[in-house]
Amino acid sequence: MIIDGKQISQSLKDAMKIDVDALAEQYGRRPCLMVIIVGDNPASRSYVRGKIKATEYCGFDGHLVELPEDVSEATLLAEIDKLNNDPLVDGILVQLPLPKHISEDKVIAAISAEKDVDGFHPENVARLWLNQHCILPCTPKGIIELLDQAGVEMAGKKAVVIGRSNIVGKPVAKLLLDRNATVTIAHSRTKDLAAVCREADILVAAVGRAEMVTAEYVKPGAAVIDVGINRTEEGKLVGDVDFASVEPIAGAITPVPGGVGPMTITMLMRNTIECFLNRVNNK
Ligand code: NAD
Repeated sequence: MIIDGKQISQSLKDAMKIDVDALAEQYGRRPCLMVIIVGDNPASRSYVRGKIKATEYCGFDGHLVELPEDVSEATLLAEIDKLNNDPLVDGILVQLPLPKHISEDKVIAAISAEKDVDGFHPENVARLWLNQHCILPCTPKGIIELLDQAGVEMAGKKAVVIGRSNIVGKPVAKLLLDRNATVTIAHSRTKDLAAVCREADILVAAVGRAEMVTAEYVKPGAAVIDVGINRTEEGKLVGDVDFASVEPIAGAITPVPGGVGPMTITMLMRNTIECFLNRVNNK
């Protein structure tokens, strides 16, 4: 089974669009997402375009704040402060990576935790690990949603996550744990990675190495979630999973493009609605 993230995203966005119209009726305004981009990194530009497009599709208010590559950290922090204090702004996202002269940690911590639609603020990360109400990071949240939509049972299953980053590997491992999977986090220093992965009923690849996960990493029938976004030398977009060799043996698999990527943006929309509702209900 190919898990069609594009189609699942589309139906979730269609449902949100209807919800947002109802929210606008009820509360007299629409959820508002502000996206800040610094500089001209083409990949960041393309991600931001996708986010703004989804914002418009779902019927949110929202704007792009564009700052030059050489903007000072102080100016960026002042911009965030302004948005933190704007009662009509529900969500603030600063597209990463930032230029070297700006501290990402400082910027993430400066965003008010209740407007942190990316779920990267230390307060939200702590709450995630303490099982408290929080804004979940979009990519891990999208992965769990894809598994749910594909009918993949997580409880009691062995899950292996390759990658231990703060934005994907660690939080998705925690969410799989919350669904009662038995979770292993593998990484660049894991010995005999293929053998570790072959144990998995659910395999999540979040490495950033084109088509590294081949058939020998996959137990027949396993659900394989490919988070990677890599460009080959020919300019083709591929995941971390070698789709051609893995698809015939996997029980379910997400393609790249059209798998996890669209879900990340859709979960960002969900988080914006969540932040809006928390704020209008004073939670
Ligand atoms: P990262 O570079 O922060 O982390 C990569 C992880 O992979 C590290 O923890 C490292 O230990 C591990 N790793 C590196 N080489 C390895 C190897 N040979 N064997 C095993 N593990 C190895 O990356 P990230 O931010 O977590 O992103 C991972 C990939 O997911 C990238 O391709 C990124 O573009 C993509 N991504 C996609 C989305 C999406 O929405 N689809 C969102 C975020 C990231």
